[in-house]
Amino acid sequence: MEKLAEKRVIRDPIHGYIHIEDKVIWDLINSKEFQRLRRVRQLGSTLMVFPSGEHSRMMHSLGAYEIARRMINEVDDIRNTLTEREKMVLMVAALLHDIGHAPFSHSFESILSCKHELYTAQIITGPSEVANVLRNIDENLPEEVASVIDHTHPNPILSQLISSQLDADRLDYLLRDSYFTGVSYGQIDLDRILRTMRVKNNKVVVKRSSIYTVENYIMARYHMYWQVYYHPNSRSYDTLLKSIFTRLRDLYSENEDILEQYPMYRELLTKKRLSNEEMYLLDDSTCMYSFSLMRRSKDPVLSDLAGRVLNRNLFEYMSADREEYLINECKKKGYDPRYYVVKDHQKQIPYLPYTGDGSDNIYVLMDNGTIEELSNVSQVVKSLSTINEQDERVFYPKEIEL
Ligand code: CA
Repeated sequence: MEKLAEKRVIRDPIHGYIHIEDKVIWDLINSKEFQRLRRVRQLGSTLMVFPSGEHSRMMHSLGAYEIARRMINEVDDIRNTLTEREKMVLMVAALLHDIGHAPFSHSFESILSCKHELYTAQIITGPSEVANVLRNIDENLPEEVASVIDHTHPNPILSQLISSQLDADRLDYLLRDSYFTGVSYGQIDLDRILRTMRVKNNKVVVKRSSIYTVENYIMARYHMYWQVYYHPNSRSYDTLLKSIFTRLRDLYSENEDILEQYPMYRELLTKKRLSNEEMYLLDDSTCMYSFSLMRRSKDPVLSDLAGRVLNRNLFEYMSADREEYLINECKKKGYDPRYYVVKDHQKQIPYLPYTGDGSDNIYVLMDNGTIEELSNVSQVVKSLSTINEQDERVFYPKEIEL
């Protein structure tokens, strides 16, 4: 693999430095699709609860790459097991794993009619600058990188290191999101996890001595989900965004002229799937600008919802069994429940053993050299894996209760 004449570093509060030695990594960072990630924040609606969490998807992607690079350089078993080509593919896949994310991911996925993983594969395989960089090295490289992300690469180690229950993506976002939001739940001992990581029987495993570190990691993830990612006020903001796009769709089906007022959503409203070029133009600033245009809309619903988003005038929430009551109150006060009473359901299972082919599991290397699935050797994880926490709420504007 071609090296840079001079090694580059990027300062980062989580990892100290992000180290870049390979020309392909540097060229990918400089592609326009990767640079778009500067303009998409990692946390979207969570900012309504933790306003300091302003970090971009670009820094998270660089962080996931840095962890993959460290896995290769610091974990002897990984360095000795993977071929030079697989090492490159692993680092590239870590760097690009989020490249298909839209702004305000959770709300946008409901209207993009396909998931961010599909856009990630579509951008990696091209046409795109990313695909050009990869094809310049090898005609089949884009497809090989995409296969790691969709778990079809012939070497399962690569997918395990990028996306499983203990992977470069999660390790970075837990550390990064907790640092930037200012909460302490996401603190995990990355150095120790890397120091005790091994490869055994074609599986990534951690040594028995590291079991408490892994328990702490599972707890950190569990707490981050309920305290940060699924915070009701963050979901309330997502609900507002969904209602905005429901209203926009409804207005468009009544009169297509609406596209002239919101040209940034032309493709979103008229096509099943965005092209890479259309995806490239979608970022946080595009959306925020559209909301300020909507605030001035003659349509009272669109204008009201956009004002709520801009001014953080969030919906209140109640348990989901009050939905009928709220729909009635809503109608009495002259609000259309289609946009003003919205149900949202979230669930989170802290650790799920034995799903699918088991490649997603966390495995522990015992002192006698055998390997065990984590919940068989950790009482803490065993009890956590029985938790299946569900949370269903209904969101509504407080004005309908006055
Ligand atoms: Ca990610």
